[in-house]
Amino acid sequence: MEERVQELRNRLVEIGDLKYAASVLTWDQRTYMPPEGAESRARQVALLQRLAHEKFIDPRVGRLLEDLRSHEESLPYDSDTASLIRVTRRDYQREMKVPADFKAEFDEHMAKSYHQWTLARPEDDFGRMVPILEKTLEYSRQYADYFPEKDHIIDPLVSISDEGVTGADLVQLFGELRENLVPMVQAIASQPGPDDSCLYQHFPREKQLAFGLEMAERFGYDLDRGREDLSAHPVTSAFSLSDVRITTRVKEKNLKEALFGTLHEAGHAIYTQNIPSELESTPIGRGATAGVHESQSRFWENLVGRSRPFWEFAYPRLQDIFPDQLRDVPLETFYRAINSVEPSVIRTAADEVTYSLHCAMRFELEMDLLEGRVEVAELPEVWHERSLEYLGVAPEENRDGVLQDMNWYSDRIGGLYQHYTLGNVMSAMWYEAALEAHPEIPDEAAEGQFDTLRRWLTENIHTHGRKFTIPELVERVTGGELTTELYLRYLDTKYGTLYDL
Ligand code: ZN
Repeated sequence: MEERVQELRNRLVEIGDLKYAASVLTWDQRTYMPPEGAESRARQVALLQRLAHEKFIDPRVGRLLEDLRSHEESLPYDSDTASLIRVTRRDYQREMKVPADFKAEFDEHMAKSYHQWTLARPEDDFGRMVPILEKTLEYSRQYADYFPEKDHIIDPLVSISDEGVTGADLVQLFGELRENLVPMVQAIASQPGPDDSCLYQHFPREKQLAFGLEMAERFGYDLDRGREDLSAHPVTSAFSLSDVRITTRVKEKNLKEALFGTLHEAGHAIYTQNIPSELESTPIGRGATAGVHESQSRFWENLVGRSRPFWEFAYPRLQDIFPDQLRDVPLETFYRAINSVEPSVIRTAADEVTYSLHCAMRFELEMDLLEGRVEVAELPEVWHERSLEYLGVAPEENRDGVLQDMNWYSDRIGGLYQHYTLGNVMSAMWYEAALEAHPEIPDEAAEGQFDTLRRWLTENIHTHGRKFTIPELVERVTGGELTTELYLRYLDTKYGTLYDL
């Protein structure tokens, strides 16, 4: 049996390394490649991905997984080997259910759709996207049809990125958030906002980058196994567990952009850097799900990076770097400025309180589209109504509404928005559990010490790689089920105090 485990492992590592090689090409494309390189690069990346996929759906992999079934059952559920076999089988079965021709056709459609969106958005031309998005919806439904055992059409689409969470779970989760957050946003909007002009002075690029990276390093981002570059959209790319890179973008007139972007990406990178090296390049050698990944990035960006204890330590340092801009701005003013809540129509610019409402709206629209309650052509109108209902503001143009995010135009419809919110919800659960184990964490943060916290995350979350589904991981870490309670309580306490609610 050991020999077969070894053979399976070797095959999987080769596949993992092909994917890492593709990541190098993609990272280069986003950072340094001259624009004319795009066409050849796309072909090269597609080739590596195809080779990885062909190696994975090899019947030999299927046979090894069958042969290893009883061996897997004889091992502890959470052991490396049992987990490797179990998770690989799940991936394999998913791949085998979807015919290769269909996949190729859908991929080609998505590439075309993305290209059309890049033209349609600047022209605010949703009409051009209607037939394309209708086709995407059809493909998405067809994909779900390959999983006849599903309870709900959205389930297979969600589990591509967030294994273990169902459409029914998400309807409940988003319902609870909506019920609590809509009134909270209304209450906040009726208050005078804080003066956040201190954030919109001129902050030279190099100094911003240096400060962000210094804080990321303090959180635990290891620069001997990582680096930071600039790109149009911040992203984290791994080429192995020992080479995990982040990118950021700087606006010299907006201190928040690079700083919180860097802390966010560093959270993703710290997660990956702390997955045990024995799991490298295997299907369990990466983050558990997209939602769990966001629970790490948002953890460092928001629960730590927008907290008062952190800034008690970090603000004097920031004032040293930007004396002319911040010398006369008190910590309290700065703290309120970075935590200002302002309903806006743009998701990526949203604050902690409104962010989940943007996702609720999009998730619910995915359900409505998949179930046929809303037609693609009706989207602008419905988008407008819901935006007003949830956020109190609505976009004037489609480019800030239904054309705003590239997600539906470069991928399926269904399962593309829950992970941000799952990340918020889980990050609050992790923080509560970490505090229970180590009540000294906030005091340490105020001293610029984050080792206890980072180690707790590693021992409880990072170390498992992709062994567990979301419910399994939540149960292990907290002893309970996924719940919005702690996240809502966190928002209530923090923003209740900030806005005198
Ligand atoms: Zn992220």
